[in-house]
Amino acid sequence: MHPGRSDPSVRVHALRLAARAASGTRLPLTTPQNAKESRVDFEGHVIRPPNEADSILLEVTVGCSHNACTFCGAYQLDRFGEKSDRAITLALAEAAEHCRGQPRVFLCNGDALALPQSRLVWILASIRERLPWVTSVSSYASAHNVEQKSDEQLAELRALGLRMVHLGLESGDDATLREVRKRGSAAFIVEQARRVRAASIQVFVTVLLGLAGKERSLIHAEATGRALSRMDPPFVGALTLMLVPGTVLFQRWRGGSFEMPGPRGLLEELRVLVEHTTLTRGMFYANHASNYLPIRARFPRDKARTLAEIDAALAGELPLRPEWMRAL
Ligand code: SF4
Repeated sequence: MHPGRSDPSVRVHALRLAARAASGTRLPLTTPQNAKESRVDFEGHVIRPPNEADSILLEVTVGCSHNACTFCGAYQLDRFGEKSDRAITLALAEAAEHCRGQPRVFLCNGDALALPQSRLVWILASIRERLPWVTSVSSYASAHNVEQKSDEQLAELRALGLRMVHLGLESGDDATLREVRKRGSAAFIVEQARRVRAASIQVFVTVLLGLAGKERSLIHAEATGRALSRMDPPFVGALTLMLVPGTVLFQRWRGGSFEMPGPRGLLEELRVLVEHTTLTRGMFYANHASNYLPIRARFPRDKARTLAEIDAALAGELPLRPEWMRAL
């Protein structure tokens, strides 16, 4: 889910805003603003977090191994699979030729960490060999992916260059997680995020405002803040749920069984989330294009200021992002 930065060229995790391509489309290895002439074949939707805008995009899987969250339309049409050795080798050869000067690689797609350890080791070692100037590799991962790896395996991936994973918590409220068919409880996701951190891999955790609907809005916000506090990640991105046509949640909303909080309700949710989030030292972003009130804060230093800003917005003293500017 990755995320939390505003970047109109991408679509992220849960909401998963990212560069998209129809099946078989040829995309640049990099995103539009820094695309060079190199082009490789990408399969399905290619999605990356906003902060990977300058990264070399290396597709190692297609789709998402779970692909069942009711709010997510990111990979609906993609059957999960691994990219072949040949495709990865060709993409690395292209990057070796055209992407010198780009020190980061992002492993696409939905949860590249679903790959078996031996394959991830081969991919990371190949990046080292073919792109020796690369200093950082990152990917999306689910808590379930992480659970499948031992502590030693996570340490091995870190030693081979995996610096960050983008992990969707979405909610700290188990009832909400069950309702949206996210895999695992909040406690499980917190535990797996802590294991990633223990392996010295950074975690960027995303949560979704509005996901619990009007009814559980503030329960979701408080539980999510508490779960984030237990994770204590260096980066948090709070996005706002956008209802995507074709998803189960969109159908529920259309049928009247799911009600989104309005702008004021979402601000109140954000306030409760911030109030209950304690980070030892971390960045809290709610400045994604989907959010009504852009926030970029260093916790714990800026927490009081952030709460004051939200209160000012609730009092009508700060403008909200107009509806037409909000997007995935
Ligand atoms: S884990 Fe859920 S939210 Fe993430 S890409 Fe897969 S289906 Fe979408």
